[in-house]
Amino acid sequence: MDCCAHEGPGGGDARFDIKKVADGVWAAVASPAYKVNCNTAIIENADGVMVVDTHSKPSAARVIVEQLRGLTSKPVRYVVNTHFHWDHWHGNEVYPQAYPDAEIVTNTITREAMVKKGLKRIQDHVRQVPAEIAKLKADIQAASPSQRAKLEADLKLAESYLAEVRGLKPALPTIAFEQTMKLYRRDREIHLLHLGRAHTEGDVFVYLPKEKVVITGDAMIGWTPYMGDGYPEDWAGTLDRLAQLDFTHIIMGHGDVTGREWLNTFRSYVADMVEAVRQEVATGATVDEVKQRVIAKLAPRHEKAFAAYNDYRPWRTGAAANIERTFAMVS
Ligand SMILES: [Zn+2]
Repeated sequence: MDCCAHEGPGGGDARFDIKKVADGVWAAVASPAYKVNCNTAIIENADGVMVVDTHSKPSAARVIVEQLRGLTSKPVRYVVNTHFHWDHWHGNEVYPQAYPDAEIVTNTITREAMVKKGLKRIQDHVRQVPAEIAKLKADIQAASPSQRAKLEADLKLAESYLAEVRGLKPALPTIAFEQTMKLYRRDREIHLLHLGRAHTEGDVFVYLPKEKVVITGDAMIGWTPYMGDGYPEDWAGTLDRLAQLDFTHIIMGHGDVTGREWLNTFRSYVADMVEAVRQEVATGATVDEVKQRVIAKLAPRHEKAFAAYNDYRPWRTGAAANIERTFAMVS
């Protein structure tokens, strides 16, 4: 069953702001949503288009396909996945359907993670989202009138996500590279790089040396990083290798397009957090003590820096999860 193929423009509920970053390079910046969507980078070449990452569900990728038609008549030839998380590749299937010659590209580590973990997590979502929906319905019953509209909107998004994840036809990458892959198009160079472990074991960075643009996936985002599958102790070092590249614009996995100053801010949060957790662990503190002390220690320097998305993804919640992950890895 293909629920949305005939709905036409605007059929999906995902919303994106298209921002020009360089000539022929755009970022489709996803609006915060109950079921998060990633950003997509769009790179137009002489002979076709590359898109980077495909969101949490096919209807979101279809929104991008529609918007692409307003930008260029060229077909999509390459779809890059930066890592194996659901909100970056569940829309993959849309591209080979819309563009029969499209290849899906990532590195071998990320492709293997999709096969070994990503496919299983799709089934986890099919099992778990109904409980989430039941909870939202109960919350709506108990909600004050002022909370109700938001919860009802969330419920709609959860229900439409469940319908889509049940019908997903996961499209795995058709090309996997080891360390680096470079595309030399007539008008552009595109480097796909693995700079070390950070958000996942296999994070792919996309680098346009001439345009001085880098696309980071979730190794950098606009709010507190998610480290559940991450390597906090390696993260800052990977960002240091990123910092050695010459670029001025960063298209991140989530959040607005930014510049090098955010790399410094983001890196120093990660490095300070890891260092503070190490110090507390060395004193023999429990995980709850470490969480409390490290948040108190980091807040004066870092909390304000992450304020832009604080209503959507509060820094303190994210930091507590980061500390827990780091505690588990350094203990
Ligand atoms: Zn991710």
